[in-house]
Amino acid sequence: MSDQTADSRVGVVVEGVSKRYGEGGHGVTALADVSLIIGAGEFVSIMGPSGSGKSTLLNLVAGLDVPSAGRVVVDGRDLATLGEEARSALRLRRIGFVFQSFNLFPTFSAEENVAWPLEFLGATWREACARAAGALRQVGLGGTACRRRPAELSGGEQQRVAIARALVTRPGLLLADEPTGNLDSATGEEILALLRALNTVDGVTIILVTHSTAAAACAARTVELRDGRIVRDALAAR
Ligand code: ADP
Repeated sequence: MSDQTADSRVGVVVEGVSKRYGEGGHGVTALADVSLIIGAGEFVSIMGPSGSGKSTLLNLVAGLDVPSAGRVVVDGRDLATLGEEARSALRLRRIGFVFQSFNLFPTFSAEENVAWPLEFLGATWREACARAAGALRQVGLGGTACRRRPAELSGGEQQRVAIARALVTRPGLLLADEPTGNLDSATGEEILALLRALNTVDGVTIILVTHSTAAAACAARTVELRDGRIVRDALAAR
């Protein structure tokens, strides 16, 4: 599917991590002593009721937030030892993000939406657009769809654009927060098949936060959170 190599795969270690928002009696414990090892090339779904700490965990792995205790290691690097600039570089080069809302620029074409992260990596706009077209083909969008703006695309197509944008920098780790939450079930299934292929064919490590058991079932392993703690960590029966 692409030239992703085993060397570019990214593992994650979460060790004794707690996260508390706010102070004293008014504080909320979002995560309580969570430990988790996700090997490079794994596909893990994170499930749990609303408020159980799923997004907090994803934000900590992304280095967008810092734990109150414990450590998070991504791609062999302890995030606490990296400055803000190094954390941003790690995010830009090694981590792709896909959200429930597609977060596309409405005035940009699909191709432009995918191309812009490459400019931050020093590519010329022309190179960036050529690579964006390749990433869009990889997710099954080609031809005139690349020139359309988000409003001229279906929800499923918009999510494909968002996935192409996440992949265009060839990250080893994809963090997906409810990526099928805004899609009908058939389109959601197509997007999940795409994620499965990225994992099995290209070796991208995927952490998928979802409420849906159908979505979780496409991961090889499911971790369930409740009240900020891991209550289940199981391999799928295959
Ligand atoms: P989930 O993604 O499973 O719905 P979250 O990680 O968003 O759960 O939230 C876990 C807990 O932390 C919830 O009680 C939530 O209200 C709280 N929380 C999350 N983010 C913040 C924040 N920025 N400030 C205060 N409390 C927060």
